[in-house]
Amino acid sequence: MRNYLLLTPGPLSTSETVRQAMLQDWCTWDKDYNLGVVTPLRKGLLEIAGLDPQDGTYTTVLLQGSGTYGVEATITCAVRPTDKLLIVSNGAYGKRMADIARHAGIPHVHVALKETEQVTPEIVKKAIAENPDATHFSVVHCETTTGILNPVADLAPIVKGAGLTLIVDAMSSFGGIPIDIRGLGIDFLISSANKCIQGVPGFCFVIARRSELEKCKGVSRSLSLDIYDQWETMEKGGGKWRFTSPTHVVRAFFQALQELKAEGGVAARYARYRENHDTLVNGMREAGFRTLLADDIQSPIITSFLYPSADFDFADFYEKLKAEGFVIYPGKISEADTFRIGNIGDVFPADFRRLTDIIRTL
Ligand SMILES: *Cc1c(COP(=O)(O)O)cnc(C)c1O
Repeated sequence: MRNYLLLTPGPLSTSETVRQAMLQDWCTWDKDYNLGVVTPLRKGLLEIAGLDPQDGTYTTVLLQGSGTYGVEATITCAVRPTDKLLIVSNGAYGKRMADIARHAGIPHVHVALKETEQVTPEIVKKAIAENPDATHFSVVHCETTTGILNPVADLAPIVKGAGLTLIVDAMSSFGGIPIDIRGLGIDFLISSANKCIQGVPGFCFVIARRSELEKCKGVSRSLSLDIYDQWETMEKGGGKWRFTSPTHVVRAFFQALQELKAEGGVAARYARYRENHDTLVNGMREAGFRTLLADDIQSPIITSFLYPSADFDFADFYEKLKAEGFVIYPGKISEADTFRIGNIGDVFPADFRRLTDIIRTL
């Protein structure tokens, strides 16, 4: 039933069992769905994040829409008109957070780094020192634009030490790279259904410190993106969504979460993604390609490769690989001509060996 393998950072290749989980219709108002699917799903998200659902420090909100909806909902609910958001970006998704703040008229400062420059503790320290009135700090964990990994474990102590609320866009890393949410003191972490949990697209979720989420009451600039109201309805209604829930997508995600647990949890998935990445990069280097980023700042999620020559025809390369059953991704940066290959999804080292064997013959 597969047309091709998606080596893209979402939507990505899902397992057949995840896709099969969509073959039933569910009533959004019935307890089979709210208590049988949504409630255990919310609990399961906390569990895979290493958080104890019983202790109540952290909670989850599910929201209709793609990942950007979750980032926009969080920023527009968590940052009040009297607050100031400090954003340090090194790619399109970090820039998008600044776009969101600008659209909503939210006071913010945007420190934009080069797309190949990692967000370091020194940069964050300096940005906070220059903006003593900042109340919130947001950063992207894995910047999918290039595949660069920002060292959130080293950044968090600086942000929290300065007393700022920490918002992390972990869209393309949550579930695929271990993140110690509690230990790092992350206040809001955003991800979506169609990334490392390996579900299909249709909703996003926020893992939030409950005390911070409670402060969002009445702050939202939008009705449908109000994560406080959405959360309150889910809490009081035993898993009810405020507006039509993407039932099939949610049921598929519930299956995907079970498959993540069966694989051995986030640590095991991280190990597989690393092996996918290593197999890909070794094979590509053998085929004469170079990576955009140095290995020490590269994530195992998605990798940018430089065009091997000035006359490299990406469109032709893309079509040839597609004919062999692999869909890759164009580049997204201005500094260099690149294309990207994703390592996440229901894909395995053997798939990357097969891919690079084909690339060597092109
Ligand atoms: C995928 C992604 C998003 C959200 O993108 P959508 O197209 O709205 O799903 C945000 N941030 C990062 C880092 C991403 O990889």
